[in-house]
Amino acid sequence: MSRPLGLLADVVPFSWVDGPGNRCAVFLQGCNLDCLACHNPHTMPRQTARAREVTVEELLDEVRPLAPYLSGVTVSGGEATLQAEFVAAWFAALRDDPATARLTRFIDSNGCADSATWDLLLPLTDGVMLDLKALDVETHEALTHRSNAPVLMSLRRLVHERKLAEVRLLVVPGYNDDEDTLRDTGEYLADNAPGVPVRVIGFRAHGVRAAARQIHEPTAEERASYGEWVGAAVGRQLVTLV
Ligand code: SF4
Repeated sequence: MSRPLGLLADVVPFSWVDGPGNRCAVFLQGCNLDCLACHNPHTMPRQTARAREVTVEELLDEVRPLAPYLSGVTVSGGEATLQAEFVAAWFAALRDDPATARLTRFIDSNGCADSATWDLLLPLTDGVMLDLKALDVETHEALTHRSNAPVLMSLRRLVHERKLAEVRLLVVPGYNDDEDTLRDTGEYLADNAPGVPVRVIGFRAHGVRAAARQIHEPTAEERASYGEWVGAAVGRQLVTLV
């Protein structure tokens, strides 16, 4: 049986910011959101001359020599779950290869996958880092051009299956940075994802498209307030501020 091909935007052999420990981060090409504050806009289109097509075996060959120095691998994007068949086949190959079997397998996702996609991926996945762009549906649509309904469904499913490793909140001034919004978001997470770490990320203009370059970059004091407001409900020890 032929294995699916993956379309890659980039591979970072060693990363300390894409999940626990030292990880090989694989960025897949193509996304199903159109985020105003996207820092990797080149990964959004599915068709682009910059992308690289690989087989499962080729990507396994790239990771095998790195394995002694890694905690695990993370697939990111773009949106990794759009290439779920490739990710599942690659994760299964990593699990079955003696050189890579001990590596943990994580997904960094915007949460727009449906339940059939999670059915395929979760048995092969150790953890998911999930973006919650906004709890309020209108704000989510303003920031991403899509509803957050599938994201909230994914969050509940991942909690139920004990696979939600982290929730990531990108705080964009003028959209989701006010105290009430962040306290409400913290309370929602405390109720629906208790004990799950939360990474609160202040907007930065570096790398974003022209339409987002006028957005205010929060000061250190403003970022600290974001962490305080979210942490008041979820527990400050669970919040990482970036
Ligand atoms: S989900 Fe991520 S990659 Fe996709 S548009 Fe949004 S920020 Fe960019």
